[in-house]
This record gives sequence, structure tokens and C-alpha cells, in this order.
Amino acid sequence: MSYQSMPKVELHLHLEGAAPPAFIAGLAKEKNIDISGIFDETGGYAFRDFEHFLSVYEAACTTLTGPEEFYRLTKAVLEESASHGVVYSETFVSPDFCGGGDVAAWREYLAAMEMAADEAERDLGITLRGVVTCIRHFGPEQAKTAAKCAVETKGKFITGYGMAGAEMVGRPGDYSYSFDMAREAGLHLTCHAGEWGGPDMIADTIRDLGVARIGHGINAIKDPALVAQIADSGIVLEVCPGSNVVLNASGGWADHPIKKLRDAGVNVTISTDDPPFFHTTMTAEFNNLAETFGWDDDDFRALNATALAAAFCDDETRAKVARKLEAT
Ligand SMILES: [Zn+2]
Repeated sequence: MSYQSMPKVELHLHLEGAAPPAFIAGLAKEKNIDISGIFDETGGYAFRDFEHFLSVYEAACTTLTGPEEFYRLTKAVLEESASHGVVYSETFVSPDFCGGGDVAAWREYLAAMEMAADEAERDLGITLRGVVTCIRHFGPEQAKTAAKCAVETKGKFITGYGMAGAEMVGRPGDYSYSFDMAREAGLHLTCHAGEWGGPDMIADTIRDLGVARIGHGINAIKDPALVAQIADSGIVLEVCPGSNVVLNASGGWADHPIKKLRDAGVNVTISTDDPPFFHTTMTAEFNNLAETFGWDDDDFRALNATALAAAFCDDETRAKVARKLEAT
């Protein structure tokens, strides 16, 4: 069976990373930007490994030159998500790619994204919230700039702050100033860790950044004491199995640690990360997990409930989304 029509909650989605390749190719053509090298012969994104993935990703982003492009991007991404049953989504958005960290420019980009989100909510029944994300390999100073943008624009749409990018650059504590700024402003916190780094990276992220959620976190499985700590603390893992399999952050589906983590009492959730890059969708994630681990409707309802409880939204929004999940 296919889980396409089942309502879903997704917490870990990079807005630019969710850009359909045909959409990016169309923008490149409009703007006479030659990025033909980032596509394979079928029109999908082509990359060799994680480092190359980051450079292909940044090349794709060069077509997203202004607020209008981000309005169109947000619409394209939400149409795709809604077609896979997603009723609530959180997306990582980076001031570094939207005005270079200038707060006034960032506000214009944000207004465009929020307008697209409001229209998608009205027309497609999907709710979107944004998590301002600094890029780790741009360094701690740039992260402060992103945090300032987050603090200045916190509201209905921007509800969280996080960090993505190359995980092995620096240590989590290098970025604690930014996370402290965001926390003091009342933003919810998440950070990529334990996709490439070991259990020590996850432990340091929890200790030094005080996050409620960890992006990926799968390498926690290598340290049973850390798994127990995460389970006891209620910290939620935003697990992206299809991404991990394609990037070789884990073995194949059968070796993926999501089931072991869940069985150990860890709050796991399911997301796609950068779906067209990893040839995945939320439907494919659910289908593959059902096939690999025998998970059924009850399992996916429970996983949706975990994700909704961990969502960076207000209680009114949470209740509204809960009604959509209960409707099936
Ligand atoms: Zn990610």
C-alpha cells in the first residue's frame, strides 16, 4: 500500500533544498545563469558525495536572487509537500541566502515567503513555519548575524532558530552565543548533529546549545548511555532516513538505526531533508519504513503525534493540525 494520502507532519526540510530541479532549471533559464553542470541527464540534481552536494546546493541557490523567487519557491515546495499528504511543515530558511544577513532585506524575503505560505494554507490546507538557520561552515560570526535576523523577525511564521551546513566544522560551543540570543528571544531551538559527527557531537550540542530537537542524531546509536539520556530528556530527533541512505550517513534501509532508537524510547520523527536531492518524498519515507520495519498505520499515527508535539508552533496551531491528523 502507499501512504501518500495519510496526513503527515514534517519537521526537517530545507526550503532551498526542497526546490524541484525543474523549477531551479526554469529560473536559471529565465536569468541566463549557466548551472547546467548540476543536473544529470534526467534533469535531477547530480552530486558525488556530501561535500559536492553542498556545492551543488549552493549553485542551485544562485538562481534564487530575490523575494519574488522565494515566493515562487515556497509555493512550489508547498504544492509538492501537500501532494504527499503533509498538513504541517517546518522549513529551514537562511538569511545568508536571503539578503546576505541584512535585516531589512531579510524582512522582504520573509514577507514573500509568508505570503506564499498563507496562500498555500488557504488553498492546500498545509501550514508552514520557518526556522531561521545559520550555516555552520560560514562560521560563528555569520551565525550571530543569522540569529539577529531571527530575533528581529520572530513571530507567527518565524518560530525557531537552528544550524545546518557542514557538521564537522568547529564545535557546537563555538555557536552558543547565537543560540543564547535566540533562546532569550523565545525562539525554539534545533541543530544538526550526529549525521556525520559521533555521539560526542550530539552530547556537546545538547549541553552547549540547549536544543529541544536534534537534526538527524542517528549516530547516538553508537553510545547506549547517550541514547538513554536522549530518551529520558525527551529531546526529539528529526530523522531523515532517505537522506541518510543516499548520502551514506547510515547503511541501507535495513541497517538504519531509526527503529533501534525508537525501540529504546527515543522520540523520533520522519522528514525528507532535501527531498529532490535524495530522490525522496514523505510518501516514499513512510512506504520504505513500512516495508523495512513492518510499521503500520498505528506506528505512523504515533510518529505524527510525536512530531506535532515537538513542532515549533503555538498551541492554537497545534490543535488545528491535530484535528487534521484525527480526521483519518
Ligand atoms: Zn538537514
